[in-house]
Amino acid sequence: ATGDSGLTVRDLVVGYGPVAALRGVSLRVPRGAVVAVLGGNGAGKSTLLRAISGTLRFHRGGIASGDVTFDGERISGVEPSGVVARGVVQVPEGRRIFARMTVEENLRAGALGVRDRGANARARERVLGLFPILAERSRQRAGLMSGGEQQMLAIGRALMAAPRLLLLDEPTLGLAPIMAARIAETIQEINAQGTSVLLVEQNVATALALASHAYVLEVGEVALSGAARDLAGDDEVRRRYLGIG
Ligand code: ATP
Repeated sequence: ATGDSGLTVRDLVVGYGPVAALRGVSLRVPRGAVVAVLGGNGAGKSTLLRAISGTLRFHRGGIASGDVTFDGERISGVEPSGVVARGVVQVPEGRRIFARMTVEENLRAGALGVRDRGANARARERVLGLFPILAERSRQRAGLMSGGEQQMLAIGRALMAAPRLLLLDEPTLGLAPIMAARIAETIQEINAQGTSVLLVEQNVATALALASHAYVLEVGEVALSGAARDLAGDDEVRRRYLGIG
């Protein structure tokens, strides 16, 4: 059904042992959209992305109930490599590049599951087009690059798997404003190239500028959701999350 295209999260309940981190979260990322997830520390944003990408168990967490589908196919319960193969790729918080490996080796690691050489070459061309600096630095150790460059590499590595949906966890965290603005522009460009984006951001203004829809998480629940434009104009959102008013 066309209503099933994109990502659908239904009534997701996730715990870390006895700690409930998500208490029944539902959301949609329609095909082609940028959707933002906002919320304070510990609201459950990273947990949501881990539940979608299948990496929850590496954090000793698990889905208690609910499910996740992508383009109508169930991906909850699928192992992380299977989720990547189905077109959903996460860029984890804190970048998690392989610091001792070269830029080129990091990019190759992102393409490990891609068998098709043509697809591989196209993905590489796309990544180097978005981030020319990665071509210049290809033989440099990744850990020696600046934080912004490492974020570019982390996104580039994820794009090597040719995702249809990119999960971004705090991509501008800790970056200088000019670098954060460049990353934001790149997210827009990636989306314009046809990749959907689920964006977790602390920077509410940036997130609402990029996204068409946004969800606000509070202690594991969706407290508020709607069109980004409406949320940006909402007095309570402005006061509580934008520090305005
Ligand atoms: P932050 O911006 O601080 O990362 P967040 O919104 O991403 O916050 P989560 O990291 O998803 O929030 O955490 C949600 C809840 O789950 C918090 O109460 C947190 O303490 C708890 N939690 C997260 N990871 C684990 C873990 N590996 N083991 C136990 N509890 C965890």
